[in-house]
Amino acid sequence: MKTAVYPGSFDPVTNGHIDIIKRALKIFDKIIIAVGDNPGKKSTFTIEERMDMLKECVKNLKNVEVDSFTGLLLNYVKSKNSKIIIRGLRAVSDFEFEFQRALMNRVVDNEIETIFIMTKEDYVYLNSSIVKEMAMFNGNVNGLVPEIVEKKLKEKFSKT
Ligand code: ADP
Repeated sequence: MKTAVYPGSFDPVTNGHIDIIKRALKIFDKIIIAVGDNPGKKSTFTIEERMDMLKECVKNLKNVEVDSFTGLLLNYVKSKNSKIIIRGLRAVSDFEFEFQRALMNRVVDNEIETIFIMTKEDYVYLNSSIVKEMAMFNGNVNGLVPEIVEKKLKEKFSKT
C-alpha cells in the first residue's frame, strides 16, 4: 500500500489542486491531503474551513483523506507511514522554490522522496491568491474552483 502526502495551504482549494489529487491517485494507493496549520502564516480561511471545503470536494474520490499538520512536514509524513510527498508544478516560477524545499527535505531525511506532478494546461496560472483577489472584487471564478469554494468565497467577501 503506497501512501503519499499532498501538503499545502489550500487557502482555498482550487481546481488545480483537485487536478493534482486525481493524477496522484493514478500512481498511489492512498493520498493524504495535509493542510498546513501554521499559526505564523496568515490565512483567509481557518484550518477548519479549508479542511471542510476539501472534504466536500473529495467526498466522491476513493482512498483520499483530509488531515491537518503542524510543525515539520517530514515528521508528519513519517507519522503516517509514508515516504512520499507530492507537490504540484505549474510554471517555471514554481521550480526554484520547490527544488530548494525538496532538496532540503532530502538532506534532512534521505528516505523521503518528493514527487512533482505537472498541472493541467488550464490551471498553469491558477493559484489560491489570484482566486481570492478575483472573488474580492466580484470577479467570476467559475471553472477555477469547485462550486462549494465559489460559494464560500462569496460568503467570505460579502462580509468584508
Ligand atoms: P503552499 O502554501 O504549500 O504552496 P498551496 O496550497 O499554495 O500550498 O499549494 C499546494 C501544492 O499545490 C503546491 O505543490 C502547489 O504548487 C500546488 N498547486 C497549487 N495550485 C496549483 C495548480 N493550479 N496546479 C497545480 N498545482 C498547484
